[in-house]
Amino acid sequence: MSYTPHGKHLIAGERIGTDDSFQSNPASGASHSFSAGNADMVDRAARAADEAFTSFGSTDIETRAAFLETIADEIEARGAEITEMGHAETGLPTARLEGERGRTTGQLRMFAAHIRKGDYLDRRHDAALPDRAPLPRPDLKLIQRPIGPVAVFGASNFPLAFSTAGGDTASALAAGCPVVVKGHEAHPATAELVADAITAAVAKCDLHPGTFSMVHGGSLEVGKALVEHPLIRAAGFTGSLRGGRALYDLCAARPEPIPFYGELGSINPMFMLPAAMADRAATLGDGWAGSLTMGVGQFCTNPGVAVVVDGPDADAFIDATARGLEQVDGQTMLTDGIADAYRSGRDTVNATGAAREVLSKTCDGRNAAPALFVTSGADWRANPDLAHEVFGPLGIVLRVADADEMLAVATDLAGQLTCTLHMDDADTETAQRLVPVLERKAGRLLINGFPTGVEVCDAMVHGGPYPASTFAGTSVGTMAIRRFLRPVSYQNFPDALLPGDWA
Ligand code: NAP
Repeated sequence: MSYTPHGKHLIAGERIGTDDSFQSNPASGASHSFSAGNADMVDRAARAADEAFTSFGSTDIETRAAFLETIADEIEARGAEITEMGHAETGLPTARLEGERGRTTGQLRMFAAHIRKGDYLDRRHDAALPDRAPLPRPDLKLIQRPIGPVAVFGASNFPLAFSTAGGDTASALAAGCPVVVKGHEAHPATAELVADAITAAVAKCDLHPGTFSMVHGGSLEVGKALVEHPLIRAAGFTGSLRGGRALYDLCAARPEPIPFYGELGSINPMFMLPAAMADRAATLGDGWAGSLTMGVGQFCTNPGVAVVVDGPDADAFIDATARGLEQVDGQTMLTDGIADAYRSGRDTVNATGAAREVLSKTCDGRNAAPALFVTSGADWRANPDLAHEVFGPLGIVLRVADADEMLAVATDLAGQLTCTLHMDDADTETAQRLVPVLERKAGRLLINGFPTGVEVCDAMVHGGPYPASTFAGTSVGTMAIRRFLRPVSYQNFPDALLPGDWA
């Protein structure tokens, strides 16, 4: 291993150690000791961020765009070490980590280009009407301003693209908000390397050092202290429904509540319409098996449920899926805890007694092997445990009687990140009945694709009605910046007092 972690927090440009520590638990290679976070470290970081906000919140667009591009350069300069460390800590393949690094630097540069265009500021001007009767109208100018210091929680399943310099951090910095990251314990050395890269960029761009800090985890106290800190103005999170809901409730219970942008996952149902199934049931089953096992199923967009109309095409689809899954052996998950949670999720599905296990391989330790269950639409609707996300390569097939029952399943769905239709032209009428229902359930609707693979672009929505996320909006793509902006209206303001971005 070419990199030895320093194991400290990075607060406003300084490496700071604490007495308490935790050991990393990498999938391979040596374990290291890391300073554990605490409320005092969070307080130092939040105070520094608030101090930085005075200058960083008023930087011009070009300064922030150049800063984002410098972060991307600094990450690339540490690319080989980041991949090596990320692979050791998470067990994710190096090719996946290299792709994720490209996505991370790509989204930093995308936000630079996005803010340079300026339209994200949504400038509006209602000129004064001094002669209007019965009352004159004042001059009103509206522009989006940064919300203030933002807390970002590193995610276990994307050590780069949804973590230290991930989409939440990139969009908050682009908006002009200083960021305090809580590193995820699953990959503390990877978090440290990326935090070093951002700290180097802060110095190179001559910004206030409090613009960025990273506090390691170590206990639930850190996340709690972060979202409860009075100087933190918003939080970005990707993780479990339980953890996200706990943090959301803390944000709402503050004397001054703040927005909590939690992306909490989903079962991402796919509706396999009859004509498409008649044409290619086996191909669809094969494709689903590949999508379900990609990245050991550790994607929030993993398609965990397929709804099919009962009959021979359903049998062919299930056989092909099972054959595809059969070929995949146990794969390493991100943490021991996530592997345990996968197995207990599988046990919960079994314990309902309402789903038949078509395929289940034994797995232990940090490994997960795929599992496939079949149930009826009626049993699925009667057993809420079958509708919960099982994070990992577990699929459930719902055999329904007809299109009407498909619609009933769609109507009963909780909020989702994605919903998919596999269809041919002859399925259009059924699709026309489903789409208005699914539109109310999910942030992204797909035709003839698999939802894993979230494009980072202008038209992407990665979010959905609760419990998919705690907000109406997106944590991926350029629109993610809106979470960290606040409109301010300036009445009768002379140009000299308007924010620099108005010009
Ligand atoms: P998690 O348990 O939700 O934790 C994510 C982050 O939130 C961690 O930094 C954690 O701190 C913090 N946190 C959680 N509960 C908290 C609380 N009550 N108070 C303060 N801080 C809290 O997610 P995870 O560790 O990544 O993985 C656990 C499970 O989450 C997985 O098995 C999986 O089911 C799910 N998951 C889902 C997605 C998705 O996209 N849907 C992604 C990742 C994980 P600590 O690290 O200090 O505990």
